[in-house]
Amino acid sequence: MKMIISPAVTWCKGYKNALLMHLHDEKVQSVPLSVLEVIEYIAHCQSTNYQDVLIRFSEHADVVKGYLDFLLQKQWLLEVPDFVDYQPISIEPSAILKTRNFYLEVSDNTSLSWFEDIALWLRKHRATHSLIISLSDESEKTQSVASDIIKRARNLGYNQCGILLSQHIKNENIYDGMSGDLDFFLAQQNAASSTHINHVEVITLTKDIVHKGSHLQSNLYSCRHNKLGTYRADNIFIDKNKAIYPHPFDLYLLGRAKNSLNLSQVINGPKAHSYFFMSKDKIDKCRICEYRLSCTNSLWNRQDKDVLSSAPKNCTYDPIVGVWHDTPVTNTAYKLEA
Ligand code: SF4
Repeated sequence: MKMIISPAVTWCKGYKNALLMHLHDEKVQSVPLSVLEVIEYIAHCQSTNYQDVLIRFSEHADVVKGYLDFLLQKQWLLEVPDFVDYQPISIEPSAILKTRNFYLEVSDNTSLSWFEDIALWLRKHRATHSLIISLSDESEKTQSVASDIIKRARNLGYNQCGILLSQHIKNENIYDGMSGDLDFFLAQQNAASSTHINHVEVITLTKDIVHKGSHLQSNLYSCRHNKLGTYRADNIFIDKNKAIYPHPFDLYLLGRAKNSLNLSQVINGPKAHSYFFMSKDKIDKCRICEYRLSCTNSLWNRQDKDVLSSAPKNCTYDPIVGVWHDTPVTNTAYKLEA
């Protein structure tokens, strides 16, 4: 009997369970560690058979038999001729870090030439295609600057422009002059807002609690990015004082962007690099969790904002006992060795 590790299947070993991911089907399955031991045993055995495995793992016979039957049925456990060469999953980092969304806080002081310099650099070097602005205040000057910036972004090739609704701005009429150029509004969760403003859809961000698999994604994207961390380069936020952060919801200061040269130095600098390449294997609690290859919980939900490896504060899973709870589990005892 020989184990096929399909390139479409991968897993990671957690503290209590193992996670089997079938990437083609986009399914994840949590299995007891004893099953993983069986899989590893078969994979490393030169020659064995079904009965040998059942005898060897007789203490867990029910679980093991059930699981072997599952593998056979899925054809992940087969007799195969030696010449069949299976390729492992490739999780090489992408050569280019992309920044899809450029978040910008606009004030009456935001200069159009500064914006052009920054926006062009992002288009050219990071393939950025969405501009999402927030207004720092309700003044007419700020509205006019925001309107000019959105128009300019269109000319520079940004194919999506939106507004992140700020909690402190109550008057929706201030968007009247710019809504013709907008694709969407983004509203934070819990913010009472309309479904449409001037016929433009308001997208409400979902509640960011990781509960019972709500953030699990079994695909190569999540697998690669959780392993390498690179998806955290997807966003960049520059506030009205030109301070650069990874995202409007994660004010982890990366540096300042007085111009595009500064921006490139910051984005390619060590602090941003640590942030962009923060993988789940380096995060407390997550690194002992079997869901770490498929969990899309964001880094910005960490308990200690200053410490990138700090455990998430919004996750209801307890990887030590392998149980989902109703409320987030934030016990710092998770700083265990895997
Ligand atoms: S412990 Fe981390 S990886 Fe596991 S489910 Fe929670 S947030 Fe996701």
